[in-house]
Amino acid sequence: MFRIGFGNDIHRLIAGQPLIIGGVPIESELGADGHSDADVLLHALTDALLGALALGDIGTHFPNNDDRWHNAESSVFLRYALGLIKSRGYVVANVDSTVSLEKTKLRLYVDAMRENISNVLELEITQVSVKAKTSEKLDAVGEGLAVRAEAIVLLSQA
Ligand SMILES: [Zn+2]
Repeated sequence: MFRIGFGNDIHRLIAGQPLIIGGVPIESELGADGHSDADVLLHALTDALLGALALGDIGTHFPNNDDRWHNAESSVFLRYALGLIKSRGYVVANVDSTVSLEKTKLRLYVDAMRENISNVLELEITQVSVKAKTSEKLDAVGEGLAVRAEAIVLLSQA
C-alpha cells in the first residue's frame, strides 16, 4: 500500500559553474560541479523515488560517463523516476527534503523550489517540503566546499 524512499547527494562547489538547486538558479559566487546541471536536490529526490520501489539509483539509470546526460537538466531524471513509479501503479503522497549550504541563504528560494518540484512531480505545493539550513561551519558543507541535499518520499498505491 505504502512505500518509503530516501535519497541524498553532495556536490563540490567550484568557481565558474552555475548553482541550480531544485530547478532554481541561485545567485552565488560558486556553483556545483557535476556531469549534468549538478542539481543536488533533484538528484536526492530522484534517488528517493527510485529507492521507494527498490529500482536502483540515479547512477544506474543515468551513468555519468554517458554524454547524453552532460549538462542535462536534472528535471529529466526526476520525471523519468516518476514515470517508473506511475507505471508500477504508485503515486507520490508527499516529499520532504533538506538542502545544506553554508554561505548563500536559501530561504528566499525555497518556495520557488517547492513550486518547481511540485510541477515536475504533478503534486500540489502543499505536498512538497524543502528546508534550508547551514552546517554550522562544520564538515565540507560548513567549510563552504560543498552543497548537500537529503530527501524522503512516501508513495501510495494509486
Ligand atoms: Zn548529484
